[in-house]
Amino acid sequence: MSEVRLRFAPSPTGYLHVGGARTALFNWLQARKEKGRFILRIEDTDVARSTQESVDAILEGMKWLGLDWDEGPYYQSDNFHIYREFVEKLLSEGKAYRCYCTAEELDAKREKALKEKRKPKYDGTCRNLTGVLHDKPHVVRFKTPHGGSTVFDDIIKGRIAFSNDELDDLIIQRSDGTPTYNFVVVVDDATMRITTVIRGDDHVNNTPRQILLYEALGYPVPRFAHVPMILGSDKTRLSKRHGATSVIAYRDMGYLPEAVVNYLVRLGWSYGDQEIFSTEELIEKFSLDAVGRSAGVFNPDKLIWLNSHYIKTGDPERLATLLGPYLEQKGIDVSSGPNLVSVVKTLQDRSKTMIEMADGALFYYKTDFEYDDKALAKFLNGNLVQLYGEIRDSLKEADNLDHGTIEALFAKICASHGIKMKDVALPARIALTGGTAAPGLFDVMEVLGCRESIQRLERAIEYVQELERERQ
Ligand code: GLU
Repeated sequence: MSEVRLRFAPSPTGYLHVGGARTALFNWLQARKEKGRFILRIEDTDVARSTQESVDAILEGMKWLGLDWDEGPYYQSDNFHIYREFVEKLLSEGKAYRCYCTAEELDAKREKALKEKRKPKYDGTCRNLTGVLHDKPHVVRFKTPHGGSTVFDDIIKGRIAFSNDELDDLIIQRSDGTPTYNFVVVVDDATMRITTVIRGDDHVNNTPRQILLYEALGYPVPRFAHVPMILGSDKTRLSKRHGATSVIAYRDMGYLPEAVVNYLVRLGWSYGDQEIFSTEELIEKFSLDAVGRSAGVFNPDKLIWLNSHYIKTGDPERLATLLGPYLEQKGIDVSSGPNLVSVVKTLQDRSKTMIEMADGALFYYKTDFEYDDKALAKFLNGNLVQLYGEIRDSLKEADNLDHGTIEALFAKICASHGIKMKDVALPARIALTGGTAAPGLFDVMEVLGCRESIQRLERAIEYVQELERERQ
C-alpha cells in the first residue's frame, strides 16, 4: 500500500486562526493514526499578502500545539519554475490554451451576460484559436471539459457533484506569468503525493476544478474531507467579535496547549460522549468518519472548563516551567522566592488559567504586597499585634514547617486564649498573603517557610501598629 500523506497548507496572511489550527490538528491526527507523513506547506504565492511574520506566527502556533510536521515547511514561492513546467505540459498536450482577451473585452462580455440573465462565464473565444500570438499579453486557461459532471465522495459531506458546464475555463497562469491558486494547489498535492486532503469547507467549490486538473495532469485524485466551519455563539462565522481567534492569543491568556487541542478536536468530532482525551487516545480514536456535517459552535465556557481540568491534573513540574514566563511578564523574579513547583501545587485546584495561577502566585514573590484593610479591620481589636507576635514567636521555635507542626502550633495558641482556629487562621492569612483569598494557610506557610513567614508577620505587626496609631 502506498504511504499515507497529509498536509496542512496555510496561507501566511495572518496568525494561526482557531479554524486553521483545527484543520491542522485533524490532518496531524489522521497522519499519526495511519502512521503516515504530515507535511507543512506554506501557500505564499500571493506575494502581496504573504508575510514572514505570518509564517513565523503560524509555525509558532503549530509548535505550541505540538503539531510536529515530518516534511517542510515547503514554500510555494520556491516552486514557480515547477508550476511553469506544468503549464507548458498542459499547453503542449492541448489541455490548456492561451487566452488573449483583454480585460475590457471580458468586462463587456460579462455585462452582456448579466443583462441577458446568463451566468457570466468565459465564452471560449480563444479556446480553439489557431496560429500563435505568443508575444501578445495573455493568460493561460485550462480547457474544462464540456458536458458531464465531476463527482467526488467527500469523507465528511458524502457525494458531491458539479456539472462541468457550470465551471469556467479556469485561468491557471496570469498575464504576468504567475500561476493561480487552484492550479498550484493541485501541482503541489500531486507532486507531494498527498493521499487525503482535509481542509475547510470553504474549499468545496474549488474541488471539482482541482479534480479536473489532477485528471488532466495524469495524477491520482486524493480523497477529500471538507470540515465544516466554526461558528460563534450567535451562529455566525467565528470572528474577533466572539473573542480571540488566534491560537497564540489563547496561550497568552493562560490556556494550556493540551486543553486547546482537546477543545478543538471536539469542535466537529465526537467519540460517544467522552470529553477528555489524551493525545495518545486521540491518535487512537480519531476518525474522519466521526466528524459531523454541521458547523461547530465555539463555546468559551467549555474551553475554560477543559483548561481547569488540565491545570488541576497537570504535572506540577511542567506547570512550573510554564508558569515562570507568565510571572516574569508580571515583573517577578522567580528566583527571589519559593520553589515554583511547590507554589504550583498550592494553586492547581484554584486556577482556571495560567494567568490566574500567576496572579494567585504573586503574593509568594512580592513581599511588599498591600493588605486588604477591609478584611483586616474586623480583627483590629487591640489583640492583633499580640496574636501576630505569638505566632511569630512560636514559629521561631519550630524547626520544620510541615502541616502537623503548624496545626499544633495554632491549636496551642487557640487553647491558651480560648478562641477558635479561624480566629487565628484568618488574621494570619492576611499577614502572610495580604488578603483572605489564597490557598490553604498551612500550605502557604509550608511553601513560604519559617523565615519568610516570620518576616511577613513582623511586617504585618508594623503595619497594624501604624494603623492603630492613625486610628487614635
Ligand atoms: N491555503 C489554503 C487556505 O489557507 C488551503 C488550501 C487547501 O487546503 O487546499 O485556506
